[in-house]
Amino acid sequence: MSAFVTAGAVAGLYGTLWAYFVRLIAPQDFGFTTAIDGLVTAVVGGSTVFIGPVLGSGFLTMVPEVQRAAGIDAGWIRPFLASLLLLVVILFLPGGLASLIPRRVTMAASGEAHADSGHAGLAQRVHPVPGEPVITLRGVDKDYGGVHAVREVDLAVTGSEIVGLIGPNGAGKTTLVNMISGLVPATSGTIEVLGVQPGQTSVHRVAAAGVSRTFQHSKLFPRLSALDNALVGAHLVSRPTFIRRLLWLPSARRDEQQSLQHAARCLDRVGLAEKSAVTASALSYGDQRRLEIARALAADPSLLILDEPAAGMNHVEAQALSTLIASLADDGLTVLLIEHNVGMVMQTCSRIVVLNFGEVIAAGTPEEIADDPAVVEAYLGSAEDEEAR
Ligand code: ATP
Repeated sequence: MSAFVTAGAVAGLYGTLWAYFVRLIAPQDFGFTTAIDGLVTAVVGGSTVFIGPVLGSGFLTMVPEVQRAAGIDAGWIRPFLASLLLLVVILFLPGGLASLIPRRVTMAASGEAHADSGHAGLAQRVHPVPGEPVITLRGVDKDYGGVHAVREVDLAVTGSEIVGLIGPNGAGKTTLVNMISGLVPATSGTIEVLGVQPGQTSVHRVAAAGVSRTFQHSKLFPRLSALDNALVGAHLVSRPTFIRRLLWLPSARRDEQQSLQHAARCLDRVGLAEKSAVTASALSYGDQRRLEIARALAADPSLLILDEPAAGMNHVEAQALSTLIASLADDGLTVLLIEHNVGMVMQTCSRIVVLNFGEVIAAGTPEEIADDPAVVEAYLGSAEDEEAR
């Protein structure tokens, strides 16, 4: 919205300056060609770099001069050339003429920001210590009309734990983490996460308290690079630079470099350092899931909620993910993991909670869960069911 408001103000300024230039304000002076000229100036030159609009306006001014010098008196040439160039630039050169000028690639933008630069950068949160409450649920229910998605769930997760949430399809796992991250309110019961009450507190405050998550279906920005996707996650911990950028204050550039290095470190943490310049849509499915984790880590969370992060990964990728999750817990993060890959959950989690039809049917260490008859029945069906079939 800030970008739209600022662009609107600049367009308004353009109109005002034009009025000063022509001296007499008449409707025909604000016709279609004038509006297109403004667009050509920005788009053909390149709207993302300072020199771009200068090149664009230089081009527009040059065409009639070249025409005059060549003795061609055809009024249609300038609008024709401008429209043609506009089309060509939009289709083949989205960065405009300015993108043809080689630019110094910053260290962070090239993905070579050093992860070990020695200072903590933007990651400065103090995580709950083992034993300190992170998630406390008491008697939590969620009803959708007649569907009881979650019933009477009690759950306590403490610092540095890796808790697995498993259960058959439709067991209520996603609904439960949606309530924990504040996306949907509970029908009844109390939820406390990192000192806030999700459902009663707005989602951005829950995130600011240190809750980050990934989603079952990846929600990346497909046309942005991996680095930019991770940078989006740093929004909460980086200092806003928009106003300072407009005022050309050098501190804005320094802060942006710091955010870029932070994002690059997050990519490095998940093993995507070499792919920071690759657009998200060009990454493999497994890499996209890891990129989502990098973006979640960029918010410097204390609680990381992963919804089926290994879906679509082969066993080598799943193994690497398991190692990554364990190392995050070593760094002090608490992880809540929903996963259908039971082998991976057993290997990664310190504790497992099993849901079925919205209820907790078992909770305990991976060994306890593996031997629990209620869990075996929920996953495989009972012997009587088998006989009845
Ligand atoms: P899966 O492993 O397939 O993702 P899940 O354990 O995450 O399943 P949920 O997605 O939480 O299960 O769904 C639990 C139940 O709640 C299902 O019966 C589902 O149809 C229902 N449900 C979930 N979200 C909604 C909604 N927005 N409106 C109505 N019913 C819903």
